[in-house]
Amino acid sequence: MFKKFISYYKPYKGMFFLDMLAALLISLIGVTYPILTNKILKEYIPNKNLQFIAIFGGCLFILYFIRMLLKYFVQYYGHVIGVKMQANMRKDMFNKLQKLPFSYYDEHETGKIMSRMTNDLMEVSELAHHGPENIFICGVTVVISFIYLMTINWVLTLIIFACVPVLVTISLIMRKRLNETSLESRKSIASINASLESSITGIRVTKAFTNSLKELEKFDVSNQEYVKSRSKVYKAMGQFFSSTSFVTDLFNVIILLAGGIFTANGLIDLAEYTTFVVSVNIFINPLTTLINFVEQYQNGVTGFKRFLEIMNENIEEENPNAINIELEGRIEFKNVSFNYDVDKDILSNVSFEIKKGQTVALVGPSGGGKTTICHLIPNFYKVSEGEILIDGYNINDLTFNSLRKNIGIVQQDVFLFNGSIKENILYGKLDATDEEVYEAARRANIHDYILTLENGYDTQIGERGVKLSGGQKQRLSIARVFLKNPSILILDEATSALDNATEHYIQDALNELCRGRTTLVVAHRLSTIRNANEIYVISDGKILESGTHEELIALNGEYTKLHNSQFK
Ligand code: ADP
Ligand code: MG
Repeated sequence: MFKKFISYYKPYKGMFFLDMLAALLISLIGVTYPILTNKILKEYIPNKNLQFIAIFGGCLFILYFIRMLLKYFVQYYGHVIGVKMQANMRKDMFNKLQKLPFSYYDEHETGKIMSRMTNDLMEVSELAHHGPENIFICGVTVVISFIYLMTINWVLTLIIFACVPVLVTISLIMRKRLNETSLESRKSIASINASLESSITGIRVTKAFTNSLKELEKFDVSNQEYVKSRSKVYKAMGQFFSSTSFVTDLFNVIILLAGGIFTANGLIDLAEYTTFVVSVNIFINPLTTLINFVEQYQNGVTGFKRFLEIMNENIEEENPNAINIELEGRIEFKNVSFNYDVDKDILSNVSFEIKKGQTVALVGPSGGGKTTICHLIPNFYKVSEGEILIDGYNINDLTFNSLRKNIGIVQQDVFLFNGSIKENILYGKLDATDEEVYEAARRANIHDYILTLENGYDTQIGERGVKLSGGQKQRLSIARVFLKNPSILILDEATSALDNATEHYIQDALNELCRGRTTLVVAHRLSTIRNANEIYVISDGKILESGTHEELIALNGEYTKLHNSQFK
């Protein structure tokens, strides 16, 4: 894990090195103050060497000015390095997300994936630059102060530094409390976000059911929970800061007492005594910074672990010898069995063939496995037994690209992206010309409608296309497939969400779309099924009957029952 983390520093090696150098200089300048104080008190004041005092003052001024510039550099570039690393991680993660299989998204919620991409990575990047900086600045300051004070009086130095473990222990104990409470509060903000996300996306349902009060109640609960958990955090925070500052104050007491006794007994002189007093304040700051750093470290490491969790997920595995070809569209299922979870077979031993250019219809009760069959053809899920062949090639031997480029899918729920109408149609073929887009829209029976809109093809359709009717959305999705122009077409209940009149209108577009393509259609209307070359009745993951409409009716079995209940 550490190695992976370090690898993200690589592109910024030079910058990072400068950042560390600046941090080193900052801490070196910090420790010059007690050394100068010692010199002035010890030599120049007794000798009344005012000139040197002035020179030293001037030097200190210049050093502090330089330190200001260095601090600016560290603040600015340190953060920039951090955010660039964060951007690289996010990019890697996004890339990974594009490659994860359907099954990953079946199991993981969008909100949680998003929080990993934003909040978690933010914490990682904070750690990435503050971590080394803090350790460096604090370490150097404490070590140099320690060595310098040792040369003055090692006994007194050891007495003071013996208190450091006490400070660290007390702080870590308090810190742990703070960490626990803040973890709790982070969980509670996550649950607010989750409930908000679902409330906002579901606002239309809420309004339709006039359940606003219920939603308010639900929201209030998590909102109040957040207040409660934050209060706990602030309590722990108060305890933490007051007690650590008390412990650091104790350092002053100890140095005053011990130093006073040492001075009174002539073990150190007044100048050295003063140096000790000044030094303590210089190394206490870094110490408290280090203690605070513990939390940042924990958050960053947790964030990075969660990042790696996604990065280590199995991607859709492509056969290294997979070939890239244009497909004509002969589909063959050979004894295919499939299951989403290990325990239950969703499809068992399904075999059928669709010849090039033919249309095959799947019918059957809901939950029988029709959509699953549709999702297996583009290799969205891997079959557990048997094989699926297209043009005689096992689909596992085709690249995802060549396979999916040749398949067009129209489903019941259409997903449109936020953007313009044109952008959404272009999704079928990103480099299409305007004329091609218009032609696709014309064939999908939506061109004329688009022209009646004030902004025509540039009309923004709203999130997921909320500004369009169901039928319009479906026609846009059909235009998208026209533009894609695949040899294989899968229509999974493409019209079942629509009313009769709209369906009729869209059916024309669909009939046009099917022409010359190998088509697998899942439908519930007789008109769609009747023309199919072959009909399969699917129930419980098995093919019960097959044949043409007339043959199946003559059989007087499941199909006839379905026909009588559904189509009449
Ligand atoms: P149909 O399209 O014929 O109505 P589906 O193919 O959608 O049926 O579903 C077949 C079975 O598989 C159902 O029992 C359903 O619960 C299950 N199923 C569908 N999708 C998933 C999934 N992503 N994960 C687990 N089980 C699923
Ligand atoms: Mg279905």
